[in-house]
This record gives sequence, C-alpha cells and structure tokens, in this order.
Amino acid sequence: MLAPALQSQLLYWSQPEKMPRLKRFQKFSEMVNELKKSGAAVFVDPASTEDLVVLLPYRIDYLNNYAEDSKFFLGLEDGKLLGSECTNCGRRYGTPRGHCLECGNKTHWIELPLVGTVHSWTTCYFGSEEFLSQTPFNLALVEFESADTLFLSRLTGVKQEDIFIGMKVRANFRKVPKYTISDVYFTPEKA
Ligand SMILES: [Zn+2]
Repeated sequence: MLAPALQSQLLYWSQPEKMPRLKRFQKFSEMVNELKKSGAAVFVDPASTEDLVVLLPYRIDYLNNYAEDSKFFLGLEDGKLLGSECTNCGRRYGTPRGHCLECGNKTHWIELPLVGTVHSWTTCYFGSEEFLSQTPFNLALVEFESADTLFLSRLTGVKQEDIFIGMKVRANFRKVPKYTISDVYFTPEKA
C-alpha cells in the first residue's frame, strides 16, 4: 500500500486542484502525531521558519546486555532502587556503578530510599524517537539522603508550574516491566 504522502502526490498529478495542503504545526508532539497519520507535515519554529518533515521508517534490533548493571534493572521489577557504595572510601552513588569515581575501588550494591527530593528539574520539549510523542514531559534530578550523587528520572502527576526544588517525590514502578530505565518514575509524595 502506498504511504499517504505518496497517495496525495498521485492525486496531485491526476487532479492538481484537489491536492491537500500539508498541515502546519508549532508543537513538535502534534506534528509527530500527524506524521504517523499522513507521513508528512510542516514544522513552524518560533522564528516562523517552515521545515518540511517526512516520516522515514527505520528499525534496528539491538541485543542490549546490561552486564554488571543487570541487578539494578532486575531490582526495578521488585520495586527497589539500587545504588552503589564504594568498599574503600564509602562514597555512595545514586545509580549503578561498578567502580568508585573517587578512588577507583570496587563498589557493592545498596538499597536506596524510595522517597527523595527534587534537586533540579527541566521540561523536555524534544526527545529521542521513543519519547518524542510524549513531549512535553518533566525530568527531575532526585536527591536521596543516603546517596552522594543524583538520580535522573521522569517526574509525572504534577503540573510544570507546581514543581519546585526541594519537593518530596516518591519512586513508582511500572507494573509490567519493560526492563528499561523508564520502569521507574517519580510522583509527588503525598503529605
Ligand atoms: Zn571510593
């Protein structure tokens, strides 16, 4: 079957007066939705520049071995956030880390608390292919009392204007895991 964009091209050759005009979008996520339907759209950026965007199918199957980070992703399935602690200097990492950044020694796993605070946050209006249709979304760097480094994660269930630095947030876990980092996301901790 012909892609919708090609179908309209054929229509133009046969009946040019019936050629539908491409839709114009100022919101990236809305343009992506249109691309999924028709295969082509025009993106208008804040400087009024018009970019023609077409959807080109692209697919690759990649066998991703989590190797020594595996325990972290398996922990998400059990509703646990695992960090790392240096066996020499005691520095505690809010993420998986095989060796210490400070002294180079091996780490061991530690369980992190499920409640932390927003250290900093941002709103993403653009993202990689997987997340493009979900834009805009919020990302937060979460600070845990018992860790020396931060954890970057999606912050949901709150409006952009209600997010603040120091806000208490809780880790939530996807009920059916996909074994990716988005198996964990944060929401405001209810008082
Ligand atoms: Zn160390």
